[in-house]
Amino acid sequence: MDAMNDQHSAAGPTAPEEAAGVRRFWTRLGLPGLIDVHTHFMPERVLRKVWDYFDAQGPLTGGREWPITYRRDEAERAAVLEEFGVRAFTSMLYPHKPGMARWLNEWAAGFARRTPGCLHTATLYCEPDVGSYVREAVDAGARVFKAHVQVGAYDPADDLLQPAWGLLAEAGIPVVIHCGSGPAPGKHTGPEPIARVLARNPGLRLIVAHLGMPEYEDFLDLAERHPQVRLDTTMAFTDFTEAFMPFPAQALPRLADLGDRVLLGSDFPNIPHLYLHQLDALERLGLGPDWLRAVCHDNAAALFGV
Ligand SMILES: [Zn+2]
Repeated sequence: MDAMNDQHSAAGPTAPEEAAGVRRFWTRLGLPGLIDVHTHFMPERVLRKVWDYFDAQGPLTGGREWPITYRRDEAERAAVLEEFGVRAFTSMLYPHKPGMARWLNEWAAGFARRTPGCLHTATLYCEPDVGSYVREAVDAGARVFKAHVQVGAYDPADDLLQPAWGLLAEAGIPVVIHCGSGPAPGKHTGPEPIARVLARNPGLRLIVAHLGMPEYEDFLDLAERHPQVRLDTTMAFTDFTEAFMPFPAQALPRLADLGDRVLLGSDFPNIPHLYLHQLDALERLGLGPDWLRAVCHDNAAALFGV
């Protein structure tokens, strides 16, 4: 525990109170629990580095104060999700340089094996052997991939990645991809490179992380044009995000229409607010209980067969 975490827990509800609130949310909707497609678990020393980065308000955080609410040991973090009633979740992890993805994928396979509810997750990077280790991860049972265009600073439409995209499209394995320019732009973020990837791989099941913020409407365009494209809600609509990258009110009807392709994501544990706040932020959109049921559980249950 550190000062920041103590401060945060002093201000909010206790852990059992928060868990009861989360469970009330999905019980009221008549759901068997939640499915969260965007949670981060990674090797401990990598996660510590990520937390240090947020603490130092590194440039990719948008220079904003970003207290990590769930700064706990791995077992405790997994237990929190269980207490919340999150039936299935991912272990989003990502390399920032070449030569790292294979090792991360080995770790993630082990984590999924020892962690009930974890969907076996893998990652990739723009490098010559990406096709071979993506094949290995798929053969090992990976059910979802994570790609981080902002941190990785590669062009997702680079020819080097084509074997990986082709394989994932053929296998129908979803890829959660951080490709919007929030909280800060990267060299290759934004809708244009993703449009090129999809032109070449129309069947690729991309899940645009963070609803593509701040290019929300451009990514809604892409989803409307490509029926296999989905979006995750990670940090969208929260007070934190609305203060600097608000979702445009005029696009809400489009979000309602895409209700079968929007998936709950949270960024747990690296969030500057309580988990319950993400759920409340979705509810206050006023899109109704059917939309919430689909987004918080049913869409992901269908996609992953859980
Ligand atoms: Zn994330």
